[in-house]
Amino acid sequence: MKLSRRSLIGAGLTGAAASAFGISGIPIIPEHKPKQVKNIIFCVVDGMAMQTLSMADQLHQMIYGKQSYWAWLMEQDFAVNGLEETRSLSSIVTDSSAASSTWGSGRRIWNGQVNVFPDGTKLRTLTSLMSSAGVKCGLVTTTTMTHATPAGFAVNSMRRDDEPGIAEKYIDAGVSILMGGGDKNFSAEKRKDKKDVYTDYQKSGYKIAKSRDEVMGWRGDKLLGIFSDSHLPFTIDRNNDEALRKSVPTLAEMASIAINNLKDSPNGFLLQIEGGKVDHGGHANDVAAMLYDQLAFEDAVKVAVDFALKDGETLVIITSDHATGGPSLNGAGDEYFDSTAGLHSVMGMKATYGVIQNDLGKTPSDKLVQDVIENRLGFQLKSEEAAAITGALSNKYAFGLSEFQRSFSSTLAMVLGNHSKITWTSGNHTSEHVMLTAVGPGNGFAAGLTKNTTLFDIMLAAKGLKHSNPTMSFEDAKMHYEKLKESANADLVASHASPEELALWQ
Ligand SMILES: [Zn+2]
Repeated sequence: MKLSRRSLIGAGLTGAAASAFGISGIPIIPEHKPKQVKNIIFCVVDGMAMQTLSMADQLHQMIYGKQSYWAWLMEQDFAVNGLEETRSLSSIVTDSSAASSTWGSGRRIWNGQVNVFPDGTKLRTLTSLMSSAGVKCGLVTTTTMTHATPAGFAVNSMRRDDEPGIAEKYIDAGVSILMGGGDKNFSAEKRKDKKDVYTDYQKSGYKIAKSRDEVMGWRGDKLLGIFSDSHLPFTIDRNNDEALRKSVPTLAEMASIAINNLKDSPNGFLLQIEGGKVDHGGHANDVAAMLYDQLAFEDAVKVAVDFALKDGETLVIITSDHATGGPSLNGAGDEYFDSTAGLHSVMGMKATYGVIQNDLGKTPSDKLVQDVIENRLGFQLKSEEAAAITGALSNKYAFGLSEFQRSFSSTLAMVLGNHSKITWTSGNHTSEHVMLTAVGPGNGFAAGLTKNTTLFDIMLAAKGLKHSNPTMSFEDAKMHYEKLKESANADLVASHASPEELALWQ
């Protein structure tokens, strides 16, 4: 007898039952009827390659003498693990808005858009469906509140980079609790149209908070917490700056505040928790930025899983949307002895590339480069290594570099790779499958390989809901997209900023 994983989901069996197959293949029937899902917590780390997960665990073991939280979690009997396929409609390599839209509408769409097809067809979103059914919804992130991943659960937008427009859409999208960055998209002084979007939220009953102090211990119904002008700072920069530690909550703190204020919802809640800056670290090929934000994300996962284990009616899904940067810790030296020392060197890194670029200015001397790198990252660069970095700052790249590596941050990363033994394939997203872990009732779906769009159906089904959005073929979408490009929205899908820009967007 062989049951497929999908039929197990259909039968409503729990992960414990789904994974409890003996060698004979005969399912073991659980003694007790599984609990229903009341709450769903969707933890997404943006841009996590498998090597990011591995290196974060290995680094955590070096620092704390024990596994990282996600690595530990994967070994537990109550967790079910598998992989998720990540592609979009326009490409095998997805961007974050198309990726989050697969979870938010159950459809693959064009990179650069949010829950729409290129002809303008809007897809009904997850938070709109959930909130209509009385499920209270929340989104917390370390990026701008209006960035691709939170937006992908909730709103429709022809352009992911229309963040001021997205800022106006969360009220109608049924999202009660919002925490992240991006004051520039809400504030009348900073928006081009001078509209005060905060007032709209206030009128709809949201508490507006701008600092960590205002939200720690907060109890209430609706919240819009915006803690920085743009994205929240990288964890490594926050850790090394007292003012940032005071003004900006950690992702784990935001997760805890959100859960505490969503948990009394009679019809349950849906919460997305995004560790958004692992992607930015990957784009910039900045290993310390990436790994410390990965560990900060895993702290937030612990908050979610601890709640779920106590509560017993909460399904926690932990995954990524795609991988970014293709990082690798490479074998180096005799018996690869230097590899361990290379990862160990990450412990000596005290700043992100953004801070370093700020220190260097536009035309530093080779000596200044050597001094800054030693002071901030703990490496003693050879003079030719420093010269490669000053060359990159003046757009003089070494002959033979691929198109993926012609940038300041890629050049810096290559030079540092001589010491850390960590190298990168590009500053872009990659196509690899990503990790998927699930905890709580109904978690059996996570075993094996899951399509990204399936998670939309699984989350709805967990709450007894079903919805089927329209579909569009690649050929039709391409035709509409070409038309759109010719029209006034020509800048539509130039969706991702360069690594240099991202490195500066702290
Ligand atoms: Zn990205």
